[in-house]
Amino acid sequence: MLIKTLPVGHMEANCYVVADENTLQCAVIDPGDEINTIMDYIEQTRLTVKAILITHCHFDHTGAVESLMEETGAVVYVNPADGAAETGRSRTFVIPRSAVLIGDGDTVEVGGLKFTVLSTPGHSPGSVCFTCENALFTGDTLFEGSCGRTDLPGGDMDQMMASLRRLARLEGDYEVYPGHMDATTLDLERANNYYMRYALGE
Ligand SMILES: [Zn+2]
Repeated sequence: MLIKTLPVGHMEANCYVVADENTLQCAVIDPGDEINTIMDYIEQTRLTVKAILITHCHFDHTGAVESLMEETGAVVYVNPADGAAETGRSRTFVIPRSAVLIGDGDTVEVGGLKFTVLSTPGHSPGSVCFTCENALFTGDTLFEGSCGRTDLPGGDMDQMMASLRRLARLEGDYEVYPGHMDATTLDLERANNYYMRYALGE
């Protein structure tokens, strides 16, 4: 598995290209902006985009979904719970009619890779994380040393705490790839992340 991080847009949301090096098929997680940056990387590496995975529907994570669909014909996978609830700054992302709706426990296979959906509401009602092998893509649920804000429409601090608790209780360690800022590991966050520790009652 090869993981490329492309921080895109003025919010510098992390778009991840996750490739199976045997088949050169890949998934693109959260194409938030800068379709040219994303397509340049895809073309240079001769990857085939099979899936577009969305951690949540905020504009900084979804801005280039439509263009990427058009460019690649890839299937979009999204949790419908973010639906049309978002307003204002986090304006509505219209879920494409061709999208595959996903929820907790669903899996998406791309080449030899298997992504599993974990429902983690709190930052938004439809926020999800994806695991794939030893990688955990956390969107705006878990950041290095922090967690996503819960004061936007549909945000909920109690749900965020339950979601952080759920991530902390996953078995074993993971490389954590968050929606903004640097990668970290689940063990480091279990040890150092104030919000995760609070969620665990420590
Ligand atoms: Zn967000």
